Amino acid sequence: MKPLPADAYVEGVRAGDRALLARAITLVESSHPRHEALAQEVLTRLLPHTGGSRRVGISGVPGVGKSTFIDALGMHLVGAGRRVAVLAIDPSSTVSGGSILGDKTRMARLAREPAAYIRPSPSSGTLGGVARKTRETLLLCEAAGFDVVVVETVGVGQSETVVADMVDFYLVLMLAGAGDELQGIKRGILEVADMVAINKADGDNKPRAERARAEYRAALHLMRAGAEPEVTTCSALEGTGIETLWSSIETHLGAQAVSGNLERRRRMQQTGWMWSMVEDGLQAALRAHPGVAALVPSLEADVLEGRITPTSAALRVLGAFLPGSRG
Ligand code: GDP
Repeated sequence: MKPLPADAYVEGVRAGDRALLARAITLVESSHPRHEALAQEVLTRLLPHTGGSRRVGISGVPGVGKSTFIDALGMHLVGAGRRVAVLAIDPSSTVSGGSILGDKTRMARLAREPAAYIRPSPSSGTLGGVARKTRETLLLCEAAGFDVVVVETVGVGQSETVVADMVDFYLVLMLAGAGDELQGIKRGILEVADMVAINKADGDNKPRAERARAEYRAALHLMRAGAEPEVTTCSALEGTGIETLWSSIETHLGAQAVSGNLERRRRMQQTGWMWSMVEDGLQAALRAHPGVAALVPSLEADVLEGRITPTSAALRVLGAFLPGSRG
């Protein structure tokens, strides 16, 4: 589709026009250089109107109940008069073009709500590229007046840190396992969580969920003494625990706003985004550099065979990329 003039996107997004919001997101997702320049112009003009939403990341393994949970949480928020956008980062799509998260049909009730907007994961590119598109989409949603932006991801690969780096609050959904709760749980995800919720705390599973909660509390106490995230239980299916959980999030974010921590977190994220894009750009340029490409196969072989050290090989790669450097 031919792009519109910048004004049309800016005004359409500001007016909360869903069709124009969707087109602005498509523009931001495009990797065509002309579209990129236009997208940056639109984003720059919308920037003063961003920052007003609660940015909440939600992750968990496939089957933990993310879509059921977001559907229930979203309905609660919409019922309270809020406008909710749901974005996704699907790491499987960046690797295989496949999809773990699927599409918007997963949140059947919320998808029908006029006050909700659900956008599937950008479907291709590196994780860094997908993250950039999602961050910019988040800004578009804020400029369009959404009160809450949920960024969903699967708890595999690096996607959880990518999400933690773009939200104000990071919620991790877990299941009560069969006994050894902490087996197989990645420490990384618990290190960045602002809250852990044990889902499927219903029926026969309730006592197990309560036990899991106690075990997570103890483990997180050891791991993050003084800054332990809250551990709670809920049933996304029955809708229990969701309201309490959301009011804890609001209380936490309110306190963070008053203390200035929220602003600090967002500011650090901004510069972090800038540098991660610089690094992605440098890496892409390095890989695409003809001199580097010509050198790499024999250098790798030399390192593997022990003919030269990794350090001197690295210096030669950098020397080919940056003539005049030490390499
Ligand atoms: P996702 O892959 O993390 O998005 O998980 P889904 O939301 O698709 O849920 C996976 C399965 O677990 C579905 O069959 C849901 O109905 C079920 N499920 C989700 N939440 C709950 C819950 O709170 N209790 C129970 N008993 N089942 C649930």
